[in-house]
Amino acid sequence: MPSTRRSVWRPPIDRVRRQPRSPTTPHSAHCTSQRSRAHQFRSPATGIRCCTRHLEKPTMDNGSGVALPRYVELETSRRCNRTCGWCPNGEGSLRHDQELMDWDLFAKITGELGAMGYDGWLANHNYNEPLLNPRVFDELDHVGQVLPRAKPAIYTNGDVLREPMLTRLLAAGVQYLRVTRYPHRAETPASYESLRTWARRAGLAQWPWEERVVRQGLALVWQRGEVKVEVIGPNIIAAYNNRGGTVTQLPMLASPRIEACWMTATSASIDFRGRLKMCCCVYPDLDDHAGYVIGDLTEASFTELWTGDQMSGYRAAHARADWSLSPACRSCTQPLPETRRVSADA
Ligand code: SF4
Ligand code: SF4
Repeated sequence: MPSTRRSVWRPPIDRVRRQPRSPTTPHSAHCTSQRSRAHQFRSPATGIRCCTRHLEKPTMDNGSGVALPRYVELETSRRCNRTCGWCPNGEGSLRHDQELMDWDLFAKITGELGAMGYDGWLANHNYNEPLLNPRVFDELDHVGQVLPRAKPAIYTNGDVLREPMLTRLLAAGVQYLRVTRYPHRAETPASYESLRTWARRAGLAQWPWEERVVRQGLALVWQRGEVKVEVIGPNIIAAYNNRGGTVTQLPMLASPRIEACWMTATSASIDFRGRLKMCCCVYPDLDDHAGYVIGDLTEASFTELWTGDQMSGYRAAHARADWSLSPACRSCTQPLPETRRVSADA
């Protein structure tokens, strides 16, 4: 006789790799202090909150005094299956074909970050769809080995994501996974129903999602400890920007920028060919943006490029809202929090 007991489904949190971090030591890779937040201070130079002993850490170890980024976008593949009108990918076919970052180059960049004790976010996207990369689990495995303190993140459009893959990604160490469910038309308003429809199709309807209003629109959120999954329905016109002028098909946000930008101080963006860019808005294959490539990591080290004259020049100018070195910034409304705050935990 079949059992009438229904099995209780539980999220696969036991399979999630946990990386406990002390709430009192935001850069605990460098600091073992157990002083409370009330006794910590925020560095005006690096924006990092810590005890006085480590106030100006971590900086690059070449004596430049330049702080490590706290977010690295390492685009390990080329292809995206979509051509969204609010993305430079929608302007041409540059991202139709797949091409993976050369493994030796990937190993070189991650190895250098690992040797520095990098403990910030490490995402494998920019203008690619990272889950179309057949090597994604090998890359996560490698990151777990050489960058044990880093926090892997995945940003995906969700088209190929299903429950088994999501569970496997979390088990492989992903600490933040964002699914952005783009509409077909920019004017389409975000709705929880469309997010729930995707969750059902992905086999994720049973996850105990919490509905939340987020900066980009609406979201379903699942969180266990420091591991978080967000499924976001964006309000495109209100929340997206013209990517340094590369988006021309839609009336995206563009107005004279008068606020400083901290992106060049806090975030490093590297494309699938190993080009370090001024920021994630740069689409280096377009002539107008070619000048914003800082250098080629197949030839130079990350430290050389991140602390070099061009990047340092942008950093200093952007901190005072001076766009004379980077006209692409003049109308940038990039709303990422990284551009608006110095502090890592504000
Ligand atoms: S916005 Fe994302 S999904 Fe859309 S084309 Fe750009 S990279 Fe691809
Ligand atoms: S202002 Fe915009 S384009 Fe310029 S560095 Fe900041 S995010 Fe990039």
